[in-house]
Amino acid sequence: MRNHIKKYGIMGGTFDPIHVGHLVIAEEIRCKFKLDKVIFIPAGNPPHKDFSKITSGDHRYQMTLLATISNPFFDVSSIELDKKGVTYTIDTIIELKKCCKDKAEFYFITGADSLLELSTWKNVDQLLNMCKFVAATRPGFQMSKIETKVKELESKYNQGIYTISVPALQISSTDIRNRIKEGDSVKYLLPESVESYIIKHKLYLENVAKGCL
Ligand code: ATP
Ligand code: MG
Repeated sequence: MRNHIKKYGIMGGTFDPIHVGHLVIAEEIRCKFKLDKVIFIPAGNPPHKDFSKITSGDHRYQMTLLATISNPFFDVSSIELDKKGVTYTIDTIIELKKCCKDKAEFYFITGADSLLELSTWKNVDQLLNMCKFVAATRPGFQMSKIETKVKELESKYNQGIYTISVPALQISSTDIRNRIKEGDSVKYLLPESVESYIIKHKLYLENVAKGCL
């Protein structure tokens, strides 16, 4: 069919660094929702994180490319990294919608922790209206809490939110950064190519974020 509406998963994150937890939730949701693509969007200057402590966008973009390259259904966009100043998800979605001329449906993929903070995001009502939210379970975040939050958001904003159980992987970028600083192994927590990239560029050895390539 020539004009069929495409279904795109949007996987936003700081990806500092990208790890297997991110890849598994993206792939699970792609399959469950029969998405045409999942677009990974490394965050530019997210409002909820201290920008001075985040690794440069160049490095995070390269690592995201390396991690996703073997999956033909995964793409990476630098839409947020190319912007100056604080970046908000709603502005990114508006821009993507414009590019697709409304011939696409967006599924915003988040982990449980991000969903719990959703009420603090800019123009959340508009955001929920423009894309379907899919929240993946994450170890450390109780399903009952997620369900309560989903109900609260659904009744407040009158929009449905999906919750999906994914294989539990107790992996976080914070833990990976700490392990590297301590000299502990990160093997199998992230793709080998990303680990090699981190070693080559000496990332995460100190507390200071690394600048441009
Ligand atoms: P950090 O520790 O720096 O916050 P992170 O591991 O949480 O890193 P992010 O880049 O903040 O990674 O996360 C991007 C998205 O992926 C978020 O919606 C987050 O909830 C989700 N996510 C990350 N890791 C997992 C995981 N292991 N299981 C389920 N969801 C995850
Ligand atoms: Mg996080």
